[in-house]
Amino acid sequence: MPTPSIQSLTLDDLTQHFAMQGEPAYRAKQVTDWLYKKRVDSFDGMTDLPAALRARLADDFAFVRPVIVRLLGSKDTTRKFLFRLADGNLIESVLIPASPALYGETSDRRTACVSTQVGCAYGCKFCASGLDGFTRNLEAAEIVDQLLAIEAESGERIDNIVFMGMGEPLANLTNLLRAIRVINAPWGLEIGARHITISTSGLAPQIRKLALEPAQFRLAISLHGATDEVRSQIMPVNRKYNLATLFDACDAYVAQKKRLMFEYILIADVNDTDEQAHQLAEHALRLSAKVNLIPYNAVEGLAWSRPSRNRQENFLHILRDHDAVATLRREKGHDIDAACGQLRLQTKRASEIAPVEN
Ligand code: SAH
Ligand code: SF4
Repeated sequence: MPTPSIQSLTLDDLTQHFAMQGEPAYRAKQVTDWLYKKRVDSFDGMTDLPAALRARLADDFAFVRPVIVRLLGSKDTTRKFLFRLADGNLIESVLIPASPALYGETSDRRTACVSTQVGCAYGCKFCASGLDGFTRNLEAAEIVDQLLAIEAESGERIDNIVFMGMGEPLANLTNLLRAIRVINAPWGLEIGARHITISTSGLAPQIRKLALEPAQFRLAISLHGATDEVRSQIMPVNRKYNLATLFDACDAYVAQKKRLMFEYILIADVNDTDEQAHQLAEHALRLSAKVNLIPYNAVEGLAWSRPSRNRQENFLHILRDHDAVATLRREKGHDIDAACGQLRLQTKRASEIAPVEN
């Protein structure tokens, strides 16, 4: 068994661990304070713990600390972080500054977009993250630590999190929920559940499980097609969980008094017809789901492109004519952000030619 990472543990786990070692219960809180309040970067930094205890912790647990390999963007714009993990794998996160709106309405929140897996097994045809297939799940600690590293590097506090980086969050549900516990807890990063959004390509059984979770985080469904015919063309997952199966799971979710959002990337001549807009409006109204329209970000090596501005607006208007709640992302500044997985892909390809400098 690999050594567990300290940032994967909850306060309860740590309390149990110390109890088994005959240590006083307050040790657990001391450790979480060092990790999430004072933000030390090693066990040695936990200076009010006895040296022997620090050494024992270092034997029992790994201390996750991803290395930033590349950083794109500036303080006022979206910043992309490429991390190298302890085993050499690359993942990326994005920090979206306050003020420019994520979806139409301006926001004063600093949003981090984090990865949950190395690569992705779901192979959506338009997405850079799936191009190289799936490598492995991230540990909870590796999910949490993207946030700690972004805050340390940028000096800014993150107050909103979207699990829209690389990977399918619901395919790594156990570690995801563990990470969310740390992120959400008063002894942890203290980010409110309503400011945490999970995005999924539509894993119906896991959506049903999430429906039963007590925490009120938000769920976004990557729909990208309003009929099976269109959706199956670009999202192979639709052959496993077709729209009827997905919407049944959504019904179960909404029945628990939880709200859903639909994400819908607009791809020219693929899913941007009037017919798709009418059908999408119908689904959204039935499930009371808000629709976020996102013009497609071109990915190197893939032939897809975004529709013209006119067509984007036309699609939005059809939704609104049906009284569906919908926004269209319009800011130019975001063109470099959403297509998570691209930075890693470029870096991996470059490193096949020359090793990446640290
Ligand atoms: N696997 C999850 C979460 C990661 S992807 C999911 O699919 O929902 C996060 C969002 O980015 C998804 O809605 C995905 O469809 C979208 N996305 C992927 N590639 C994109 C691109 N090139 N341009 C715009 N959005 C993209
Ligand atoms: Fe995976 Fe989401 Fe990309 Fe599809 S869109 S390949 S599910 S990361």
